[in-house]
Amino acid sequence: MPDIADVVVVGGGVVGCAAAYYLAGEGLSVTVVERDSIASHASGFAYGGLTPVMGIFIDDPLVALSAYADDLHAELAGSLPELTGVDTEYRAKPSLMLATNADEVPAIRELYDWLAEHHDGNIGWLEQSELRGMEPRLSPDIQAGMFTDISHEVEPYKFTLALAQAAESRGAEIRNARVTGLNLNGDGGVASVVIGNDEIAVHDVVIAMGPWSAEAGAWTGIDVPIAPLKGQILRLAAPGDPLAISLSWSGNYATTKPDGLLWAGTTEEEVGFDENPSVEGRDQVMASLVKVLPYLADARLAQHTACLRPVAPDGLPIIGQVPSVPGAWLASGTGRKGILLGPGLGRVVADMIIGKTPAVDVSRLGLERFSEAAD
Ligand SMILES: Cc1cc2nc3c(=O)[nH]c(=O)nc-3n(C[C@H](O)[C@H](O)[C@H](O)COP(=O)(O)OP(=O)(O)OC[C@H]3O[C@@H](n4cnc5c(N)ncnc54)[C@H](O)[C@@H]3O)c2cc1C
Repeated sequence: MPDIADVVVVGGGVVGCAAAYYLAGEGLSVTVVERDSIASHASGFAYGGLTPVMGIFIDDPLVALSAYADDLHAELAGSLPELTGVDTEYRAKPSLMLATNADEVPAIRELYDWLAEHHDGNIGWLEQSELRGMEPRLSPDIQAGMFTDISHEVEPYKFTLALAQAAESRGAEIRNARVTGLNLNGDGGVASVVIGNDEIAVHDVVIAMGPWSAEAGAWTGIDVPIAPLKGQILRLAAPGDPLAISLSWSGNYATTKPDGLLWAGTTEEEVGFDENPSVEGRDQVMASLVKVLPYLADARLAQHTACLRPVAPDGLPIIGQVPSVPGAWLASGTGRKGILLGPGLGRVVADMIIGKTPAVDVSRLGLERFSEAAD
């Protein structure tokens, strides 16, 4: 007799654990199948910045989803520690988005003008002298920047672990195994999830396999266009006072974490599934960091990590039913924003499975957008 669950979630990263947490909260029997361990990939080694107004574009379908996910984080900051005893290190941390040269000023200014009109939060434009008043150790080369306090942080490993434990406290089961396929029924819908010689009979399956989600294309017969994009982070024992403000510039960032270390990143490398930190990655992060914060030239490297972001061709998440395969749901493609978006994707996919209209419109984020584009 096969095992039975209402829903199997494939992948124990932030997206899978959030989906399991919300599905179990709806009273469904849920099994998370993770082949390594919970949060052992990007969800455990990310930077942990929750910046819903950074790195988004005007009229981006991510605007609403980011704001929604940000609200869920605020809620989870109360409920997860209560349910699990895990301190997820959720805290407010204002951010500065910096222009390191004159060419970068217009894009940040455009984002600032749009946000100032559309957001209630505290958003400010700062010229060079004002920036250095806020953080005197900034390089004099920094031109201008945008300040926002719509910005939080979590410790991503603890956050994902807490979601998994909270899902368990709601009755979800976590199984350490690799999913190898799906069995479809006569109507093309999902009948069971295959784990080697075992299977779990299910009503629904959530594919939340992060950068490995494309493997599910072979299981469903539908192309899942998600690829890995490697990123590296350094944790430094830095001299002087901690950074009171998170900094980001030209796709890079730095902040002091509650562990006392200054975390700095990052790289964007198309190198397949290679998750190893490299000397080139370290040097690239360090060179960019020292250009912005020259005082860190002699900081001691305490830890160096690398992990893979799941990225779709248009850079947007993919969420919704796999076309023509009833019962198969995809939630991935969160790119550089998965820690922020994870609870949003988890809640939305849970709502879709129970037949409830999600609180946020994700109609532009379905997998069918790629086949429509090809038509
Ligand atoms: C350097 C770096 C910094 C980042 N910083 C931030 C940040 O500051 N803020 C932010 O919001 N986001 C950040 N991100 C992005 C974020 O980490 C990712 O978008 C997010 O973690 C993806 O979560 P996931 O659950 O989709 O994937 P993952 O965390 O990769 O989890 C997928 C899981 O699926 C499992 N799996 C795969 N195949 C199978 C199978 N066949 N059977 C069973 N299990 C399987 C894997 O083992 C893995 O554990 C960063 C990413 C990187 C690389």
